[in-house]
Amino acid sequence: MSKVWEENFSYNAKNVRPSPVREMLAVIKQPGMISFAGGMPAPEIFPVDEFYEGVHILKEDGKNLLQYGTTEGYPPLKEFLAEWTSPRMGKVAALDEMLITTGSQQALDLFSWAIIDRGDFVITEDPTYLAALSTFYNHGAEFLGVPCDGEGMQVDLLPEIIEKARKEGKKVKFIYTIVNFQNPGGSTMTLERRKKLVEISHKYSIPIFEDDPYGYVRFDGEHLPSIFSLDDAGGVIYAGSFSKILSPGSRIGWVTGSKEIIRKMTVFKQTADLCTSTIAQALVAEYCRNGHLDKHIPVIIDNYRVKRDAMQESFKRHLEPLGVSWVKPEGGFFYWLNFPQINTKDLFKKAIEKKVAFVIGEPFCTKPGSGIHNARLCYTFPSPEVTEEGVKRLAEAVQELAQI
Ligand code: PMP
Repeated sequence: MSKVWEENFSYNAKNVRPSPVREMLAVIKQPGMISFAGGMPAPEIFPVDEFYEGVHILKEDGKNLLQYGTTEGYPPLKEFLAEWTSPRMGKVAALDEMLITTGSQQALDLFSWAIIDRGDFVITEDPTYLAALSTFYNHGAEFLGVPCDGEGMQVDLLPEIIEKARKEGKKVKFIYTIVNFQNPGGSTMTLERRKKLVEISHKYSIPIFEDDPYGYVRFDGEHLPSIFSLDDAGGVIYAGSFSKILSPGSRIGWVTGSKEIIRKMTVFKQTADLCTSTIAQALVAEYCRNGHLDKHIPVIIDNYRVKRDAMQESFKRHLEPLGVSWVKPEGGFFYWLNFPQINTKDLFKKAIEKKVAFVIGEPFCTKPGSGIHNARLCYTFPSPEVTEEGVKRLAEAVQELAQI
């Protein structure tokens, strides 16, 4: 590598960590590979025709849509979202309480710009979404991980964690939570814990970032109130996304929160990308206004429910007899498996030889050495038949490792 770059890299560039999932994509693209790795929606149910129906707006309003848009977002999309999300948010958000982002991934980054100073601490579920950990880390954050069980983050542990951190002079800046069908754990936080979390946020004056890309993809049971709707102090920011309910290629997400934080994030967005693609926002808005979103979500739910159940049946046939355990998710995209005795880094190598891929557990955890017996498997992309074959291959890999 040319020295001119190495000598001039920033502190951040010297310390940046590539995403293990993005790096893995190259391996996964090998011919014949069955991948449970990326959180990929099923392309066979993308609503291509319904999306295409909106293309006429390019002819009608092309002079505006091919232009830069406002950083705040395309107003018709915001108006739609303010209404559409209101049952979940407990209110119709005002337009200055909402910002359109380039995927909810950008919301994590803009929020980090607004809140994190180098050396600050962020409370997260442990394990949690690894690209959130990477984003916060790139902004200089350190982590206080809270263990999860089948009911989500164990919020009862929070007061002690916060008080101990404060005694040690640590600055705790916010709580990051994925309350519905957590990535990677699959668990959903109970109503009781949601209420408790809001109380804790008030008591210690620590804001909450509620990341909810999977919330609308519920297979069983009733939707629970968002943390945002349970809070009356304006200390919760809610991030949503079209990635899992329409198309990740649209790269459209949104955040709802009080004006002060939305304004700061908007100002950071001015330098991040000026605005989210106007064309993409307009096409998504047209798709939604034509009533397609509400018709499409049940299609997604039915498709993924079958795949979740099929994966569980495959697990029961091939992995349960080998002592592997899991919690069945009520929605979302993922199973989080526990392989007692096996380090999933070793399993990953064996599995790749057998042409099946997953994501190892460790990068989802806040402490090195945790998650080494875990793996995240996504069920939404492969068909049940392919899943059966992939799980069979994984079981073979487990058996071969156990014999070593
Ligand atoms: N948050 C969580 C918890 C996720 O799982 C993802 C995507 N896998 C994102 C945010 C980012 O999604 P997007 O940028 O596609 O909206």
